[in-house]
Amino acid sequence: MYRSHTCGELRPAHAGQEVTLAGWVHRRRDHGDLIFIDLRDRYGITQVVFSSAYAEAHTVAETVRSEYVVQVRGEVRIRPPEAVNPDLATGEIEVVAHAAQVLNPARTTPIYIAKEGGEDEAVRLKYRYLDLRRERMQRNLILRHRVVKFIRDFLDAEGFVEIETPILIKSTPEGARDYLVPSRLHPGKFYALPQSPQQLKQLLMVAGYDKYFQIARCFRDEDQRADRQPEFTQLDMEMSFVDQEDVLDLIERLFTALCRAITPHKHLLTPFRRLTYTEAMERYGSDKPDLRYDLELVNLSDLLAETPFQVFRAALANGGQVKGIRAPGCATFSRKQIDELAEVARAGGARGLAWAVLPADGGEIRSSFARNLAPGEFAAIAERMAAQPGDLLLLVADQPAVVAASLDKLRRKLAELLDLADPNTLCFAWVVDFPLVEWNADEQRWDAVHHPFTAPKDEDLHLLTTDPGKVRAKAYDLILNGYEAGGGSIRIHRRDVQQQIFSLLGISEDQAQAQFGHMLEAFEYGAPPHGGIAPGIDRLVMILAGEPTIREVMAFPKTQQAVDLMTNAPSPVDERQLKELHIRIVNGSAADNA
Ligand code: ASP
Repeated sequence: MYRSHTCGELRPAHAGQEVTLAGWVHRRRDHGDLIFIDLRDRYGITQVVFSSAYAEAHTVAETVRSEYVVQVRGEVRIRPPEAVNPDLATGEIEVVAHAAQVLNPARTTPIYIAKEGGEDEAVRLKYRYLDLRRERMQRNLILRHRVVKFIRDFLDAEGFVEIETPILIKSTPEGARDYLVPSRLHPGKFYALPQSPQQLKQLLMVAGYDKYFQIARCFRDEDQRADRQPEFTQLDMEMSFVDQEDVLDLIERLFTALCRAITPHKHLLTPFRRLTYTEAMERYGSDKPDLRYDLELVNLSDLLAETPFQVFRAALANGGQVKGIRAPGCATFSRKQIDELAEVARAGGARGLAWAVLPADGGEIRSSFARNLAPGEFAAIAERMAAQPGDLLLLVADQPAVVAASLDKLRRKLAELLDLADPNTLCFAWVVDFPLVEWNADEQRWDAVHHPFTAPKDEDLHLLTTDPGKVRAKAYDLILNGYEAGGGSIRIHRRDVQQQIFSLLGISEDQAQAQFGHMLEAFEYGAPPHGGIAPGIDRLVMILAGEPTIREVMAFPKTQQAVDLMTNAPSPVDERQLKELHIRIVNGSAADNA
């Protein structure tokens, strides 16, 4: 028997018992006759005291170092009041060692387990198995486990069936590049790793499973901008005989119950707010606005149609907009701070940022643009923006997409500077009525905004042939604190409609047949109306854990460059393997593959 108890288990009630513990040396304090070792496992830390009265055990304690794996036998003793450690669950007791042995020594670790932070993330990722010993990572992975367990139990009680779908499949488009797997048995042919189990879950509905879910790994070969990973986990779901309201209702109940159970200390805002896509873009410049704070965008275009100020006028004449954001109480910002805000706007594509400072004492307004306006125009802007003395007004004039992107960035930046985004508030919301398609100017064709299986709204069907850009989809996103927490849609379940959408997307009948023939055929054998959603697990756990990146809630993440620093994947393979797979490396050195 390696141990009778874990390192997090012992309490005053165990006093007098002889116990055996095993774990890692967390800290060691050597006072000569007395040596204290904090012994750690994932359950906690227990203080073990080695006195010279037990000479053999004491000798072992003299030799051990941090992260040695040690087994200790001894007696549980209540600590004297002045030695109680209120920060430890086991802090009222200690174990007096009678015997000890080293189960395995450890080299000096490249990161210090007992003290978090400081080192480069690359070192943490290279030695992830050491990083994972730390309390922060253990807390996060256990939280993740509890979230997934809650989801499984909740959906089971709702009658859902968890079904695994294959990892080696035929490509399902979700707007990213596929990871491909070469086939040894079929030279020149490839499997794709699923960007999502989209088609398979729809086929499960055709098969009559009615309510499906899966904790599904998804793979997308995207340029690793922002906080993305090449593989990530979704709660993938699909339901039959439902409309949008049914899906939204189920998810709202699931996440409300989940947050109340798993993070009861957080302030969950219910019921979830709802915005249309158009409203979200107009009021916040984003389809995933952070709704924990206001800072709404104000459209000033109609006030400035005739303005003599060339910058505004030209933007409006070119089909653009002038919109602003009021930064309450920010009149105190220095010129340098305003320049930094202009940088933020530029990162969103704006060529510049127009600003006006309204001093709190009612003094003279300072502004980068007010003097260029016609009389009365500035007053009209200030009135529309409900400006108060002490405010800073920030304006961007450009094409709508640029105005939205730059003011969205500014809005988030201001919230950060003004400390408006309370980390303990969970603000979910629904964004609905997304457009079905968007124009891809590079490729000169319509692209699906969600994916090609998403149904158009019935009342917009007549626009499909005349004005596709105006067709709204039965698509919805769940957002949380400024992130997209999941997206889904009601699907097309009729072959003729699906074919119509494929052709709108520029997919010829032959292509559709080759790529999606199985779907089209399945729709001819009694496909029920169905719909679903796929909330992201990594991002949800990240937000619940209050972590800044999804890497902090994944056991073995890759870097932003999609490299696993621990195993060095991706890595070269030997020539024989390549040959079996009928692959020859053309670019890149052949020597790499020797
Ligand atoms: N397959 C979609 C996605 O991965 C989600 C869905 O439509 O259910 O975004």
